[in-house]
Amino acid sequence: MSDRECGACGQCCKLIGVRELEKAPHVWCRYYKRDKGCGIYEVRPQGCAEFACDWLLDERLDDAWRPDRSGFVLHAGQGGRVINVELDPTQPTAWRRAPFEATLRGWAAAGAADGLEVLIWVGRRCWRLTPSGGEIDLGVVRPAVEFTSHSRLRRAGSGRDWPPT
Ligand code: SF4
Ligand code: SF4
Repeated sequence: MSDRECGACGQCCKLIGVRELEKAPHVWCRYYKRDKGCGIYEVRPQGCAEFACDWLLDERLDDAWRPDRSGFVLHAGQGGRVINVELDPTQPTAWRRAPFEATLRGWAAAGAADGLEVLIWVGRRCWRLTPSGGEIDLGVVRPAVEFTSHSRLRRAGSGRDWPPT
């Protein structure tokens, strides 16, 4: 676990859905105050309180990976079997900038033998990075509104073995 704090980031308050508020993904939460953060922090929903993106959890990811700088939120899914790269639809190619693309492809290659996957998300559309350096377009695979499961769940040994270094 890292000692990091979100600071002025707040990207998950846009990109991630919050079931308790019926806040859809990819729209700003009505309680988010730019440069100030959550306007209802003390009483924010449990889902918000429990959510932590991978940048927050993993100090190996430097400040370039902070979501408001990178343009995407990294978060684990399916019990840690998947790393989701949740892009801001206004910056759909942000993941291709250095150093992100090479690193994400490295994780996909390193994790493949253990059945781990890196998924690139732009809204409802998804691409899976292949271990050989390509990507497979999985198409529109999300329902119109989905509330992403907020979870700190990580793979066993969590935060150290995935993403691999
Ligand atoms: S995206 Fe990560 S760093 Fe940014 S506010 Fe959400 S949890 Fe914090
Ligand atoms: S309630 Fe607060 S923490 Fe939750 S999404 Fe809205 S602004 Fe972010």
